[in-house]
Amino acid sequence: MKPWVTFDLDNTLLRNPYWRLHFRPWLEEQAARQGTDYRALWNAFRLEGERRWRQGQWVESFDWPDIARELGLEPLPDPVRPSAHEVRALILPGAESALRRLHAADVRLGVVTNGFLRFQKPYLDALGWEYGFKVVVTPDLVGAAKPAARVMAHVSPGLAHIGDRLSHDILVAQRTDRVGILIGEGRLETDRIDPLGPARIIPDIHLHHLGDLPNIVTWLLNRDQQASSPRDGLRPRSPVSLPHQRPIGDV
Ligand SMILES: [Mg+2]
Repeated sequence: MKPWVTFDLDNTLLRNPYWRLHFRPWLEEQAARQGTDYRALWNAFRLEGERRWRQGQWVESFDWPDIARELGLEPLPDPVRPSAHEVRALILPGAESALRRLHAADVRLGVVTNGFLRFQKPYLDALGWEYGFKVVVTPDLVGAAKPAARVMAHVSPGLAHIGDRLSHDILVAQRTDRVGILIGEGRLETDRIDPLGPARIIPDIHLHHLGDLPNIVTWLLNRDQQASSPRDGLRPRSPVSLPHQRPIGDV
């Protein structure tokens, strides 16, 4: 059975199209009507999302239209499919060529995002990327969000998961026996942290450009075939815990 290579979407393959093309413009419109700044309005969403997360309502914490209702705002509509041109401008360097090359590799490709399907699909459709992914896993479909291990039940056995967040993408990869590949800087994370996560999370592999990914996947596949146990020796586990009490899954 071909193993899965899965991707986060926002800030891994794309520069957050839901936020840039839909949510922020809506916030700006609402804020202008109220005579305030969109950042103040966003902060109310952020705080309510974080409150839900801390209460264990991990899926509901990403339900922006429901949060808009809770905050007494006008209905936040779902996005409609934009022009391909608008979304193409948000593709991160190397993403499309890496996906093309991986499509020909001996793996199955999937998306695992914490954005609801109806927030993400219009952009995938606009790009014509849906043919490349066998599955798109979202919190509203599976009833859980990264870094909960059960999010990955539909994409197992997994070879690797690639993402930009240590406390979501790398942690869920390491919890589900696949290689966690960090793309980007590994920025400081203070929101939506799993209280059961380690104080420090170290990626198995840190990539600065997606163009390097196909060679890494080939290398992982070869390692897998040679190893007596499929995962033996794959993961150079580093010390993961520091004697810190703060529940921040970050460096
Ligand atoms: Mg992301």
